[in-house]
Amino acid sequence: MSYDNDNIFAKILRGEIPNNTVYEDEHVLAFHDITPQRPVHILVIPKGAYVNMDDFTAKASDEEVIALMRASGKIARDLGLAETGYRVINNNGDDGHQEVQHLHLHILGGAPAGPMLKKVSAG
Ligand code: AMP
Repeated sequence: MSYDNDNIFAKILRGEIPNNTVYEDEHVLAFHDITPQRPVHILVIPKGAYVNMDDFTAKASDEEVIALMRASGKIARDLGLAETGYRVINNNGDDGHQEVQHLHLHILGGAPAGPMLKKVSAG
């Protein structure tokens, strides 16, 4: 899938749509999810134009990949989630139920996350 420059996170990165930023560096922006699913719900995104994890891991530099992971851990620590625990979710493509076509990691905490996935028939 090619990158759509009009996706909502591209607009946030260009400053065309406001966001509630919790962290920013050269490669990464993180902000509060607009529809939080837990008391803490942060989205961590690369500043580069990557559709999803497949695109990112195939094309991003080592520096960008490291930056996303380092930032995610730091954000969770800084928000006090490291001790109580948290869940990181990354939805990819249709089966992953990805809604916004710019790679993002969800960091969810502040309450138990519950079971990992709903059970579905293996088919
Ligand atoms: P996903 O289903 O993994 O693609 O998640 C997309 C997430 O983006 C959802 O949790 C939305 O609530 C969130 N979202 C959509 N628009 C915005 C926005 N303008 N600011 C912050 N979060 C947003």
